[in-house]
Amino acid sequence: MTYSWVGPVAGADEEGAWEALVATARRTVAEGLVVGTSGNVSVRVGDTVLVTPSGVPYDRLAPGDITGVDLDGRQVIGRLVPTSELPMHLAVYRATDARAVVHTHAVHATAVSLLVPELPPVHYMTAALGGPVRVAPYAAYGTDELARNMLDALTGRTGCLLQNHGTITYGASLDQAYDRTAQLEWMSRLWLTAASVPGRTPSLLTADQLAAVTERLRGYGQRP
Ligand SMILES: [Zn+2]
Repeated sequence: MTYSWVGPVAGADEEGAWEALVATARRTVAEGLVVGTSGNVSVRVGDTVLVTPSGVPYDRLAPGDITGVDLDGRQVIGRLVPTSELPMHLAVYRATDARAVVHTHAVHATAVSLLVPELPPVHYMTAALGGPVRVAPYAAYGTDELARNMLDALTGRTGCLLQNHGTITYGASLDQAYDRTAQLEWMSRLWLTAASVPGRTPSLLTADQLAAVTERLRGYGQRP
């Protein structure tokens, strides 16, 4: 490991957030959104970003592996090297009110990124991501160029596809960020399934239909 300095001991808030982060990372594998050590998850606690370390299988992550950086990417907790996709995670936190970010190589969503510049609005859950989900143009993983392309594609959205690479979504919590990834993968699968029927073209929702759903989603869920 290149990091020999051990940062400040993580507090109870960070330790609790780390436990939730590890559970979310394991869910991405268990539910087939990630294979092996691809993909990564982060969560923001104050001005610290806890993030999965590079190259460690999620089933082996332990409380002592907690890894945290500040918003400039300087390591402030732990000794494991943070994910190589750190520039994307930090770009999201600096530009939005995100509290959690999930990045995967989910197969159907990644397949869509090879075919079109935007996932066609085949389902009303498009509105839950802020509108039709764009594909960020390809750039090498871990680069600032990829982070810039991603931020452009995220304008007005809570998720996007990364061309020939995967997905990224964010939310107010790990559960929300995870659910948006799962919905994005499901919608990608839906479109690919419908679009692969020979001689037929899937119907799409109109901008007006999506706007009406956006209104309804504002009031969706349990009453407080
Ligand atoms: Zn990746």
